[in-house]
Amino acid sequence: MHGVCARFRPLNSKEKQNDNDTVCIRSRDTETFIFKDEKDEESVFSFDRVFYEQSEQADVYQFLALPMVRDVLDAFNGTIITYGQTGAGKTYSMEGPGILECGEEKKGLLPRVVEGLFDSLNSYGEEKTYSIKLSMVEIYMEKVRDLFDLSKDNIQIKESKSRGIILPGVTETLNRTRSGKLILVDLAGSEKVEKTGAEGRVLEEAKTINKSLSALGNVINSLTCGLQGKASHIPYRDSKLTRILQDALGGNARTALLCCCSPNAFNASESLSTLRFGARAKHI
Ligand code: ADP
Ligand code: MG
Repeated sequence: MHGVCARFRPLNSKEKQNDNDTVCIRSRDTETFIFKDEKDEESVFSFDRVFYEQSEQADVYQFLALPMVRDVLDAFNGTIITYGQTGAGKTYSMEGPGILECGEEKKGLLPRVVEGLFDSLNSYGEEKTYSIKLSMVEIYMEKVRDLFDLSKDNIQIKESKSRGIILPGVTETLNRTRSGKLILVDLAGSEKVEKTGAEGRVLEEAKTINKSLSALGNVINSLTCGLQGKASHIPYRDSKLTRILQDALGGNARTALLCCCSPNAFNASESLSTLRFGARAKHI
């Protein structure tokens, strides 16, 4: 992977109020920190970059996304994935809070990437012609649905020789021959299903989510085995998520993973599993 990073959100006001404000990490430097688990045992983690609670949205953009924005205009593919338990800061990192309430500087990766693409194009002048197209889909209960056209609620995933994995029929603005694609993925929460106490439909949803996240974990494991010289089948087809991300995970595209964590000791076991997921992904 091009970059595996960890990000810790600040403690929220509820955590601060309820005497529930013990923090389970101690920073060492921009790449390393010490993590204290539920049994008070300490381990050192290192990532390509660690964003601590005071980090700015602009820092995350510059490190993770800016190189990809440049590359995609040279027809290289890129993917950024946010991973972590519910409430850890995935959507905050990806989209950011509302600009009206929180101001421009809090905006997340998605609006910054779009601006970055247009800024780069403007700086190129008129010697080349570019077109940018945008699609937005959600995977819900193993069906891919088009967020720009909700009537398209079961989009098929196909593979094309020239463009890799594609979603035929998905709403998009334009097509060109030589193209790069940049995929931004805001994953569902990675927490254990049992812990949520969900029932009925919500439980079914949670199980499906869990399946696709474990399929993602399996693909990452198989890819690391492949790197160790053990030939193995990569189970991309086990979920829609891994199928859509096939090029991003297996090919030579740039892929970055942002492991979002709560800094709170209360969430230590979920944070630990998120950080371990990231540590495994670093090997591919
Ligand atoms: P997730 O998408 O992982 O479930 P959210 O991104 O919705 O979590 O974050 C949960 C809450 O924490 C939101 O209220 C969000 O505004 C806040 N939050 C997350 N990350 C940060 C951060 N880096 N700085 C400030 N607030 C944050
Ligand atoms: Mg979210």
